[in-house]
This record gives sequence, C-alpha cells and structure tokens, in this order.
Amino acid sequence: MPTLADIVSLAKRRGFFYPGSDIYGGLANTWDYGPLGAELKKKIKELWWETFVTRRPDMVGLDSAVISSSKVWEASGHVASFADAMVDCKTCHARTRADHLIEDALDIKVEGKTLTELNEIIAKNNLKCPTCGNATLTNARSFNLLFPVHLGILAESADLAYLRGETAQGIFINFKNILDSTRVRLPFGVGQMGKSFRNEITKGQATFRTVEFEQGEIEYFFNPETTPWEPLFDSWLSAMKNFVIGTLGINETNLRTREHDDKERSFYSKKTVDLEYNYPFGYKELWGLAYRTDYDLQQHIKNSGADLSYLDPATNQKFVPHVIEPAVGIDRLVLMVLCDAYYHDEEHNRVVLKLAKKLAPYTVAVFPLLKNNPELVGRAKEIFDNLSARFRTAWDDRGNIGKRYYYQDEMGTPYCVTVDHQTLTDGTVTLRDRDTTEQIRLNASELIAHLEKSL
Ligand code: ATP
Repeated sequence: MPTLADIVSLAKRRGFFYPGSDIYGGLANTWDYGPLGAELKKKIKELWWETFVTRRPDMVGLDSAVISSSKVWEASGHVASFADAMVDCKTCHARTRADHLIEDALDIKVEGKTLTELNEIIAKNNLKCPTCGNATLTNARSFNLLFPVHLGILAESADLAYLRGETAQGIFINFKNILDSTRVRLPFGVGQMGKSFRNEITKGQATFRTVEFEQGEIEYFFNPETTPWEPLFDSWLSAMKNFVIGTLGINETNLRTREHDDKERSFYSKKTVDLEYNYPFGYKELWGLAYRTDYDLQQHIKNSGADLSYLDPATNQKFVPHVIEPAVGIDRLVLMVLCDAYYHDEEHNRVVLKLAKKLAPYTVAVFPLLKNNPELVGRAKEIFDNLSARFRTAWDDRGNIGKRYYYQDEMGTPYCVTVDHQTLTDGTVTLRDRDTTEQIRLNASELIAHLEKSL
C-alpha cells in the first residue's frame, strides 16, 4: 500500500494532479488535474454515466445549474444545518474540524454529537492543536459549508444565491419538469454528474476532501406501497460494488461497507450505508447510499408550493414518491484508482501504475530506437499514426529505451512498441507489457488486432 506522499509525488511528477494556485503559493483544498489526470477522470466519468444512465432503461440524465436560488437551500435544510463544528487555535490561528481532531487523537467516531458533547470530549482529554501542539483551542463553533454568491451589483440578501453543496437538489427541484417533459414511469431514476462546493477545512488528504469537487448522484424514485425498499436498496449497493470492482478493477479486499447508526444517520433517512475504500489514511467514505424517504420532495412542496406528486396512470393514485440515493465523489474514485493501481516493483526498482487497461490515459507508446536515424523515426511515425487512429498513443524518443519504459510504467501505459533496425528488414517490432515487463516480437501489421484482443 503506497503512502499518500507516494501518490501525491507521482501525481505531480507525471501530471495527474497538482496543488491549486500553485505558483501563487497555493490555495488550501483545491487541486488542478493535469494532462493524465484529466484523461483518467474523464474515462471514469464516462464509465459512470454509461453504466448508470445510458445503459439503463429506467434512468434519465440531468445537468442542472451550479448556482441556485437561496430558497432551494433553505428548503433542503442546508442553510440551517449543513455545518461542521470547528475549533480555532488561539496561538497559531489554525482552524480544525472538531470531529476530525477527536477522531484522529482518540480513534472514536463522534458523528451526530452536539457542540457541547464535542467540547466536553476535547476538554476532558486535553486535546491540542494539531498544527502547533498547544492546548489553546477555542470551544467548537458551527460553520456552514455552503458558499454564498451575490448576483448582480448589490450585495443584498435579495440577490443571495448559493453554489450548490450537492448535485442532488437539482434533481428534486426539476422533478416536475422531468415528469412533464419525458415519458418516465415509476420506478425510475435521475442521474447527474457535476461540480459541488463545500467550504471544507481539512488538511493533508490530497483530492479526497476539497472545496470544489465532482459528484455522481442518482435519485431513484419509487412507490413504497408497491416497491419494497429493502431489495431495491440492496440492488443499488450491489450495483455500486460491481462498478468499483468489476468496471474500475479495484481490489475487493480494500473495500468495506459501514452502516450508519441512529446517531449518525440523518433524521429523515431510514437506512444509510457507506461503501468505504482503504485509502492510505484509512477506510473512508467513497460512495454513500441512503433511503431518504420523501423528505426532499416534501420540503420543496412545502416551500415552493409546486405540485411535486406523481400520478400513477394505471391506478390514478396520486402520491409523493420516495427515493434511494447512491451518491459518489468522482475525485474520490480517481484517488482510489491511483492508490489501488500504485505498485512498487522492487525487483526492477520501478513504480508501476497497474491501471485497468480501459482506464489508462494512454493505451500504447511508440518509440524509435534512435531519434537521430530518419529511417527508424519515419517507420515509427507510420506505426504511431496507424495506432493513433484506434488508441490514445504516446510518442517518446528521449533517453534510452529502459528509461522510456519506466516513464510509461508510471503513467500506467499498458503497452510499449519499439521500432528498431530489425523492423526495417522484416517488419517486426517489440511489444512490451507494463505488468510483466515481458517482450514479444510481432509484425507491425498485427499490432492493432493484438492490442484490441488484449484490451
Ligand atoms: P464526508 O462524510 O466524507 O464529508 P458526506 O457524507 O458529507 O462525506 P455526501 O454529502 O453523502 O458526503 O456526498 C456524496 C459523496 O460526495 C461522498 O460519498 C463523497 O464521495 C463525495 N464528497 C463529499 N464531500 C466531498 C469533498 N469535500 N470533496 C470530495 N468529495 C466529496
């Protein structure tokens, strides 16, 4: 298992992700995806959409606005209670989440505890500031996670809107639009993928917890009188696991599920289960699954006055549907994929990113043995053009072949093709496998068929 420092170093070295606003000294909890990270993230997003929206007849997609009326977030309960308890250090002024402070120091779970209870635990155990080590922490106070934005010129409350704190609310507020404009019938789901924003304060977990992140959320609507929720809940949990293990190729032993107890679970939820991954800093939530009942639709009915009920065409029964919500963080999927694929091959002293082949940013790399030999370069270029028409193909003519292999290993490129003097006489090339380092010789004309088969 790599350390987080190994992952961050590889990410920066090869261009998966970089600290945000880097040349200006950085901006806490923001990261920029580099050329390889952008490709990897795009592939994961495409697979999520294909699996959960395109291929399912009971699902439709949505792409709602990032900025939404403050009324949406008042109705959803986020304005009143979407908050984290924070403590400040009177010595160094660092701000820390009270639950993380306690969990890290005492290894106990404190979700659902009140501010008073958190303060009692901090005082009783004389907990210290994790930044400077002094026991000079303030009492815990509540900080709302929503980012307000002021539209127009005047910063008055009438212009107040919010950057969305989750994509899910966009689905609820469009429920009637979707019913009116499509031919969906219960049970059906709406999937949405996009950016969400939370004013989070946590250090040292790379892209795991950021202020701006992408979510893939599904609201699956059903009639609780005709569709029993337990089997539906279980089928979504299986679908989530299948995606992580089967589609993304993650090692099952690094996954576990954890059910929320009564204290941790939101009051409107009947059951919540987190699918957790064993990140370098321990098991943490990757994907949440919650049976949210009809809470959200009812809140928007109450606050907007809109009719968000469903009329069953078969029975003429009118009711407000219930929902099951699988919600995943795309950035957490990307970080998981990198951690799971990272492998230090001691025998060859190399780092290999053993990504599932379909996730690799580049499928194949082409090298001319010598960069100053026009014949070799010309033949290699032909092969490169041929492969590029079918696969994302990298070109490298710098340094010796061994170094080029190691460079591609760190990028996770499954195959490398070397064009040498023998290629010019008999048309064969060397094909080298990332995971086994084995090399075979085959005719260049067989490359596409061979790669297609192995993918
Ligand atoms: P956590 O307990 O880790 O703060 P959460 O329970 O608040 O997460 P949800 O509101 O259920 O998270 O959001 C759904 C998913 O969105 C989470 O499972 C997680 O993968 C992702 N997510 C939530 N907050 C962040 C964040 N700040 N950065 C990156 N991903 C996030």
